[in-house]
Amino acid sequence: MRAVTVSPDREDPLEVRELPEPEPGPGELLVQGLALGVCGTDREIISGGHGALPEGRDWLVLGHESLGRVRRAPEGSGFAEGDLAVGVVRRPDPVPCGACARGEFDMCRNGRYTERGIKAIDGFGAQAWTIEPEYAVKLDPGLERVGVLMEPTTVVAKAWEQIERVGGRSWFDPRRVLVTGAGPIGMLAALLGKQRGLDVHVLDRVTEGPKPPLVRDLGAEYHTEDIERVMSEVDPDIVIEATGAARLVFEAMAGTPAYGIVCLTGVSPAGRRITVDAGSLNRDIVLENDAVVGSVNANLRHYRQAADALAAADRAWLERIITRRVPIDRAQEAFTPQPDDIKAVLALDPSAE
Ligand SMILES: [Zn+2]
Ligand SMILES: [Zn+2]
Repeated sequence: MRAVTVSPDREDPLEVRELPEPEPGPGELLVQGLALGVCGTDREIISGGHGALPEGRDWLVLGHESLGRVRRAPEGSGFAEGDLAVGVVRRPDPVPCGACARGEFDMCRNGRYTERGIKAIDGFGAQAWTIEPEYAVKLDPGLERVGVLMEPTTVVAKAWEQIERVGGRSWFDPRRVLVTGAGPIGMLAALLGKQRGLDVHVLDRVTEGPKPPLVRDLGAEYHTEDIERVMSEVDPDIVIEATGAARLVFEAMAGTPAYGIVCLTGVSPAGRRITVDAGSLNRDIVLENDAVVGSVNANLRHYRQAADALAAADRAWLERIITRRVPIDRAQEAFTPQPDDIKAVLALDPSAE
């Protein structure tokens, strides 16, 4: 079977290798890889800026946004041959910390967790992979073309859960949400906002391509004006920030109404400085009981929430988020961003295309 591997120290870090078919351990599932979603995290791993290799090896099977079909499932695993399945990315740290001990490994306190395709354990960018059934999530059989969006959906399901829990500290009846950034995270955050019956607004820079019509077809409003203007026009109770752009982050924090919540999901590069009136920002947050919360990763509960959200969504709309499907033998292409990309996907099974 073929797999996409990464050796960050080499001149050509990305390689499609022929590897032996994996043998499932006791109780494990054998899964045929169908598709793999590509994101900025993969590009950071390829450039050596993120992640870790398995011990004693100079390469890692890349890929954390999985979709596969179960080929072999042991009795009592809860899975059957033919089921669509997605693998959970993170595994608890071995200590474990209090959060990991309670299944909240997305909130790990000591950072010693591992992650498939990212940190120390092989990922899902392979034509076959194995997984513990307790870290696999079954999908609605109708989601074959879009189930690869599960992992980014788990990230926004967690973000929404965080927002609702933070809101739950007092009376909370949000009406308007602003999502900054119309990439996959922003689009899926907007989808989950619509599913909650909210008035959804999305801000992005681009004025052409697939993003504006996708936002409009969701029943949300697309904005390209300056963030300050959009904040005062929309007056959002909630902001989900998905760009990591420093100015958007601070304008969002400063511009919410009383009891506003800003959920930060975008990872910014360090070292870019902007000037902020910290005194006025602090004053605003205190006097309005505002909250700013960072959110990353997801635990099993969020995977189940994401599976439900995808099952309830319009499949044709979801499919439009996937702007490219690249066969595995042209892997390099999938990991190279294109101007009109929302989500690029690597097709692992050439016979399915
Ligand atoms: Zn990703
Ligand atoms: Zn932990």
